Amino acid sequence: MTAPTIGVLALQGDVREHVHALTSVGAAAVPVRRRSELDAVDALVIPGGESTTIDKLLRAFELFAPLQDRLRAGMPAYGSCAGMILLADRVLGGIEGQRTLGGVDVTVRRNAFGRQVDSFETDLTIDGVDDGPMHAVFIRAPWVEEVGPAAKIVGRVESGPAAGRIVAVRQGPLLVTSFHPEVTGDTRVHRLFVQIVSESQG
Ligand code: GLN
Repeated sequence: MTAPTIGVLALQGDVREHVHALTSVGAAAVPVRRRSELDAVDALVIPGGESTTIDKLLRAFELFAPLQDRLRAGMPAYGSCAGMILLADRVLGGIEGQRTLGGVDVTVRRNAFGRQVDSFETDLTIDGVDDGPMHAVFIRAPWVEEVGPAAKIVGRVESGPAAGRIVAVRQGPLLVTSFHPEVTGDTRVHRLFVQIVSESQG
């Protein structure tokens, strides 16, 4: 079977790191900035960055509606941090007029961890990721405040002031994490996503 082609939305954020992580787990990874590039991929990663900016750029580049259509048609997607916000059905603490693409039946809160734990690192276990806990880096991250019946919690903060907070969710071919696995060199979340993509291709 040929490796799936996975796009990385390249409007803003840490695109290169995701391309690198995907490539290292055997996927063909390409940046996506245009409609034609979106049409050519099997799946999409939405990177961390600033969800309000990515939202505006999606509209400016006329990608918002086509991307939403692909998600509704079942395209697998993985969103980290700002990407998680964009894939959430509901967002708290957004700016006036902020929209999300939606797809995952959750309510996320932007910049949820507050000033004292604005950015932090911790080890946690993700359902579907074997071989022990992974090191998770949070940068002005959202958390998931409410999970609807269609979505499945796959990871929580396990210790410290934010213990118990939901930070990873899966819904069918959609995966979201509050943290940034692309910055640690641990490629297991990307491997899981590639597996999800392969499964969805049958
Ligand atoms: N705070 C950012 C937002 O609301 C997300 C931060 C990140 O992606 N590292 O979009």
